[in-house]
Amino acid sequence: MPKQDYYDILGVDKNSSKEEIKKAYKKLAIKHHPDKNDGNKESEEKFKEIGEAYSVLSDDNKKSRYDQFGHEGLRGASSGGGGGFGGFDFGDAESIFEQFFGGGGFGGGRGRSSGSTRREGADLQIKIKLTLEDIAKETTKKVKLKKHVTCSHCGGSGAKDSSSVTKCSTCGGSGEVKSVQRSIFGQFVNVTACSACDGLGEVITERCPNCSGEGRVRDEKTISIKIPPGVSEGQYITLSGEGNAGKRNGPTGDLLAIIIEQDHKYFHRDGEDIYYDLKLNIAEATLGTDLEVPIIGGKIKVKIPSGTQPGKKLMIKGKGLPILHGYGTGDMIIRITIWIPKKLSKKSKELFEKIGDINEIKPKTTDKGFFEKVKDIFF
Ligand SMILES: [Zn+2]
Ligand SMILES: [Zn+2]
Repeated sequence: MPKQDYYDILGVDKNSSKEEIKKAYKKLAIKHHPDKNDGNKESEEKFKEIGEAYSVLSDDNKKSRYDQFGHEGLRGASSGGGGGFGGFDFGDAESIFEQFFGGGGFGGGRGRSSGSTRREGADLQIKIKLTLEDIAKETTKKVKLKKHVTCSHCGGSGAKDSSSVTKCSTCGGSGEVKSVQRSIFGQFVNVTACSACDGLGEVITERCPNCSGEGRVRDEKTISIKIPPGVSEGQYITLSGEGNAGKRNGPTGDLLAIIIEQDHKYFHRDGEDIYYDLKLNIAEATLGTDLEVPIIGGKIKVKIPSGTQPGKKLMIKGKGLPILHGYGTGDMIIRITIWIPKKLSKKSKELFEKIGDINEIKPKTTDKGFFEKVKDIFF
């Protein structure tokens, strides 16, 4: 793709004044700033383009090269070479922007890291196996967890004692290092966390023997996790601050408890509803009966009417699972199947033969079969 003209990008022309170019840049940069566009990839590209165009057109030397030779004129103009822009240093779009607006972006969402991230403890993940009985009510699960915890010996400082901590000589105790960067705007100061002390401002002369200076040790902890009713497979609960302790009192990571649903002996779950397959024998289905079926956490009496057909569904209202963070409960659905014996004793066989002679048990010719019903629809 050929590179777009810098004047076109900013919507100015060769005769525009420095002030006009500046104004045009400012307007476009605000419009396309990534913070304002929710990380939109196109805006981000546009924002970079605008920064690049401005960095050239606002610089007398680069502008005159560009006017004479176009994009080619900028190649190899600085050391390096071979990069995405042919080795030319255009500066970083974000820092150009910050020169204008004083940094921080919009809404403070992109605050500069204080450097604590390098000391941050990692997040942990665990799986929590739950039965449908667990899911039906609020449960608390106790979990044993191996993780980094703050060293009790040094309180997380990593130092042997208070006298074995000294001011960092690299940053003078501020935890920050200022570096002066030259840019198209002249010099500006870049503040980063001191790498010698990880931004703490102090270094350890003698390490804590218990944690070797890390400020944390591996340990096994038991924690209780409260799980709301109605959760389902794959959902997770975030327990903030229950992950690994950070190095030298750095921020603690989070613990993610991921829900795993165990198969049930009787039930099958579909959302909030519970399905149960009930097998009836021929006599029960024909004559009807009262029987007990399992529900979650107990049993319930069910009346099976005479003449119950296979495939019939009976609904028991409110005996499903509670709706997560909502009101109400799902239902239990009983699906009827008829169990046909494969083997019979001689005596039973004689009985069935007698029953078989009864006229009422013979399928009625008026009951249309499947194919006849299809014929009714299509012919
Ligand atoms: Zn320690
Ligand atoms: Zn330092």
